[in-house]
Amino acid sequence: MKKNDVLTIRIEDMGVDGEGIGKVDNIPLFVKDALIGDVVSVKIMKMKKNYGYARLLEILEPSKDRVTPPCEFHRSCGGCQIQALSYEKQLEFKQRKIRNNLKRIGGFSEEMLEQVMEPIIGMDEPYHYRNKAQFPVGRDREGRTVTGFYAGRTHTIIPNRNCLLGMPMNEKILETVLSFMEKYRIEPYDEKTNRGVVRHVLTRYGHTTKEWMVCLVINRTKLPYADALVEELVKLEGMTSISININQKNTNVILGEKVETLWGSPYITDYIHLRTGADWQVEGDGIAYRISPQSFYQVNPIQTEKLYSTALAYAGLTGEESVWDLYCGIGTISLFLAQRAKQVYGVEIVPQAIADAKENAKLNGITNAEFFVGKAEEVLPEFYERMRRGDSGISSGISSGVSGAEVSDMDAATDVQMLTPDVIVVDPPRKGCDTKCLETIVQMFPKRVVYVSCDSATLARDLKFLCENGYEVKRVRGCDMFGQTVSVETVVLLSQQKPDDTIEIDLDLDELDATSAELKATYQEIKDYVLKEFGLKVSNLYISQVKRKCGIEVGENYNLPKTENPKVLQCPKEKEDAIKAALKYFAMI
Ligand code: SAH
Repeated sequence: MKKNDVLTIRIEDMGVDGEGIGKVDNIPLFVKDALIGDVVSVKIMKMKKNYGYARLLEILEPSKDRVTPPCEFHRSCGGCQIQALSYEKQLEFKQRKIRNNLKRIGGFSEEMLEQVMEPIIGMDEPYHYRNKAQFPVGRDREGRTVTGFYAGRTHTIIPNRNCLLGMPMNEKILETVLSFMEKYRIEPYDEKTNRGVVRHVLTRYGHTTKEWMVCLVINRTKLPYADALVEELVKLEGMTSISININQKNTNVILGEKVETLWGSPYITDYIHLRTGADWQVEGDGIAYRISPQSFYQVNPIQTEKLYSTALAYAGLTGEESVWDLYCGIGTISLFLAQRAKQVYGVEIVPQAIADAKENAKLNGITNAEFFVGKAEEVLPEFYERMRRGDSGISSGISSGVSGAEVSDMDAATDVQMLTPDVIVVDPPRKGCDTKCLETIVQMFPKRVVYVSCDSATLARDLKFLCENGYEVKRVRGCDMFGQTVSVETVVLLSQQKPDDTIEIDLDLDELDATSAELKATYQEIKDYVLKEFGLKVSNLYISQVKRKCGIEVGENYNLPKTENPKVLQCPKEKEDAIKAALKYFAMI
């Protein structure tokens, strides 16, 4: 096989990015836009030693799972990688993707995954779900002003004003903006020369409130004839907020820092409701969120409700729990959890998002949620370290951009509950959790960890770490937030490993930590000693196992299993010896 060869192959598998995979002499060929079950004619574009890339020339025999893609631009656009696959099969593909990553990267067994994986949550209507769109504005080859989408991996604009993933109203908004630009001769932005005015049109929609936001990103400080644009846009139903965003930099980043409201409110409002039962019935009035042009807000409102409701169910809250929500954004999950928890603490790196989170808490009259600006991997360890030392001056150490308001929050919150969270929820970006963050979670040892992930590969990596350090995966559920694309969200429930499922055991080291200052210090001191002297990291679980072996009481309610359960991680010999040395050092044995 070599470049430019034309071959006929049957597609047998699909890669993580939705590309078809067929084999010739056992060498896989990756073919974009080909689906499992297709027999296709392809041309080889590139050959590596053990695999190659080929271009689809013709579908000779279509797969039975093929559907006619409703969007004529689906191949050139690149936004919808699997639009030609039936929705049912898209869900199967996503479920398989999660499972394969957990197996391959996480090292979990087929049998174990069979037990913990629940059916993926699909969408009732896998089109017209996006509540946000950003359309670039430019010129086509003939010099006409156009808007639409960038063709996959390029900056050529495909003039599609009616993306089927978004709301039909987008088309009307774009027509209004374009005829305004034409009438007043307002130039589109030109990336090459950094000249022209209008760069992007951003639209957002409140699914529950039916409110619309339009924001023009411009390469000026003022939009000429802005009143004329406003006059036209306000005629559209639901128009609530019209603004400009100023971005005069020669950059790929869409939004600049400054926003100016031209008309109406600076934000739109939307609600996220709790959903329950097999048919996801809406319960209650929901939590209101204010969304400004720059805010991060999930783009699929209905699936977000299902995703958060699943996370809430996994958290197992009764109203008594102390919960941390790491990577909390504008507090969406935090406020959702606050409905059922005693206290919620949110951590997020973007100061503006935390300001929004606090506003949102106020807006809903929620008083049991507090928010801190900073990196999860810095705020959590610093906090844990200071609390463990019983240092009430916690605020002085949290330096990560915490303003005066948060300092007093932190002071007020210095109680033992913060030291011993019952549940930690994480919802990190694609790269997953920082190691330091995971290490601190393991040290804090909450009863449950709920992991919400937008990338099942980094999720699998992080789950592996947590399961090597005292946790076990109890439930896994995919949720399709992005129909027609290859992305999938996953929610995972982890619990502290129990020595034996058949015996009611409560390995509650938190409780021990909370009730005995001495014990609390000992666990950490042992860890510190082992790390310093042996360069090894050991978990609470391992320490308790070794203590037990050495005949030291580790709590009345911690029973040893009658038989060794293979599911429970046993402390490796090297770590056991190191922990024993620490116990000796502290004169405990
Ligand atoms: N849970 C929120 C946001 C999830 S997106 C929601 O569902 O709406 C991930 C968030 O993590 C983003 O808001 C991003 O700004 C934030 N983030 C990225 N790196 C971070 C870090 N190291 N520490 C804390 N937050 C971080």
